[in-house]
Amino acid sequence: MLRCDVPRCGRAAGYRFAANPEETALRCLRHAVFYRPVRRRALRVAALVGSVLFLINQADVVLSGAVTPAVLAKIGLTYLVPFSVSTYSALGVSRLRRAGESSVPALLPDAAESDRERG
Ligand SMILES: [Zn+2]
Repeated sequence: MLRCDVPRCGRAAGYRFAANPEETALRCLRHAVFYRPVRRRALRVAALVGSVLFLINQADVVLSGAVTPAVLAKIGLTYLVPFSVSTYSALGVSRLRRAGESSVPALLPDAAESDRERG
């Protein structure tokens, strides 16, 4: 069984990241979520996509001066959603598969089922 590369972690590795073509990083779930390249990319996606969504959905409210705690919460979620999707996607493509496990993400149970039926 592969182990997380983080010193003194010792947990089973569930994710493999290609730091560069010659070097890979193995991480358990806890350390995969906070793996610096994953976090950095998620922050960039959140800044870009979140800002576009903010302009579409809340810019008029903010410019009119009608900022309420609910609007502030929505603005936070506007940035949190793309951050979460980017992190989830990075973990999904980096997940180590066990022998016999489908390559179709568990989020799509119908596709995984038809994948199994085909053999
Ligand atoms: Zn770990």
